[in-house]
Amino acid sequence: MAEYSALALLKNALTGNKDWKPAWRKPEPKAAYDVIVIGGGGHGLSTAYYLAKEHGVTNVAVLEKGYLGSGNVGRNTTAVRSNYLLPPNTRFYEHSMKLWENLSHDLNYNVMFSQRGVLNLAHSPAQLDDYARRGNSMRHQGVDAELLSVAEISRLIPVMDTSKATRFPVYGGLMQPRAGTARHDAVAWGYARGADRRGVDIVENCEVTGFLRDGDRITGVTTSRGEIRAKKVAVAVAGSTGRVMQLAGIDRLPIESHVLQAFVTESLKPVLDTVVTFGMGHFYVSQSDKGGLVYGGDIDGYNSYAQRGNLPIVQEVMAEMLALFPSLAGVRLLRSWGGVCDMSMDGSPIITTGPLPGMYLNCGWCYGGFKATPASGFCFAHTIARDEPHELNAAFTLDRFHRGILIDEKGQGATPRLH
Ligand SMILES: Cc1cc2nc3c(=O)[nH]c(=O)nc-3n(C[C@H](O)[C@H](O)[C@H](O)COP(=O)(O)OP(=O)(O)OC[C@H]3O[C@@H](n4cnc5c(N)ncnc54)[C@H](O)[C@@H]3O)c2cc1C
Repeated sequence: MAEYSALALLKNALTGNKDWKPAWRKPEPKAAYDVIVIGGGGHGLSTAYYLAKEHGVTNVAVLEKGYLGSGNVGRNTTAVRSNYLLPPNTRFYEHSMKLWENLSHDLNYNVMFSQRGVLNLAHSPAQLDDYARRGNSMRHQGVDAELLSVAEISRLIPVMDTSKATRFPVYGGLMQPRAGTARHDAVAWGYARGADRRGVDIVENCEVTGFLRDGDRITGVTTSRGEIRAKKVAVAVAGSTGRVMQLAGIDRLPIESHVLQAFVTESLKPVLDTVVTFGMGHFYVSQSDKGGLVYGGDIDGYNSYAQRGNLPIVQEVMAEMLALFPSLAGVRLLRSWGGVCDMSMDGSPIITTGPLPGMYLNCGWCYGGFKATPASGFCFAHTIARDEPHELNAAFTLDRFHRGILIDEKGQGATPRLH
């Protein structure tokens, strides 16, 4: 398969772009593999990539029920950050950030990682204190963080209303300069191509419909394209975790599925060159390379597997947008869509062996798993290949909910819709 390079771009441009090869093969599934990864989202694909790259495990199939990018990896708002408070999360997401920083080079695929910063706005002195605490914790752990004054924020984002006359005046904010955005579907395609090049079979339109078992042990899967055996079966299906695990007879997990919506406006001239989050509700926005404002808010707040949302949250998100950017009231909304998020009880993920022998589980990404894609695949691949967690995911166990060792970043308690 050809390397992507400036020279290849030039050569193909001069010859009518007819010689580009498909980025990955379309193999028929084999009867058996060493490892099956269920779910061709960002996490499943990155897991397959790191299994091959870091552990030399290449007899691997990724089974995807639809097409690559049809799940949350192709539906998210692409914010990437590592501005967490609690050490297990900070370490894990900062490792992800480091992988992001070299990802285009590593994959030989431009994932358009743009370190334009993520700014969390504070709307009261108490909230600013809270952000100062988080920033201090980040800096203690070697992560970049800066507390910005209102004057610095209004210089950075002149289009935003930072006057004291607004309903929720801005008191300052916490900036992570190395955070930013990446092109979501390029991440899926880049990992797919990287895994395929190392021999992984990526099988689209192949829905897992059940598990093959020998007693308790998982020995393979039944699919819409026949039975496939495997020594190890890894589940990375994000919002569908409850459904897929039910096929293995596991019907109680510390996960709820909720819809999360996102929105994009018509293209504007550049007005916003960072990612901003509102502190008095749940709203965040960035401007895409095409000029559209990309934004989102809270989950819809009821359990669902539907990839579409309802109007009340649309109204709430628009109101929050206008509270910060009243001058953008005339901008037209182009599209909205929804994805199904696997909300965990403490807002932190699960990357673990089990819960059955021969099975491995990756889930609980809530609405923040895109930024985790590199580290999640890296750690899950380690867990699968070595049958034990990497030190970075050692805390993300399934039994922490039984043992009471929660990683509750927001301090909200076991209420998934609040994380
Ligand atoms: C609107 C929205 C905005 C978001 N914004 C952000 C953000 O700004 N930053 C951030 O970090 N995160 C964000 N997220 C969260 C992030 O997108 C997810 O946490 C992450 O993408 C989940 O991992 P994934 O990519 O592997 O999931 P997915 O892409 O959903 O992959 C799971 C795959 O499993 C497949 N599957 C399901 N069942 C089966 C089966 N039975 N057999 C075979 N395959 C199956 C699905 O078809 C799907 O392709 C957002 C999510 C949404 C919905």
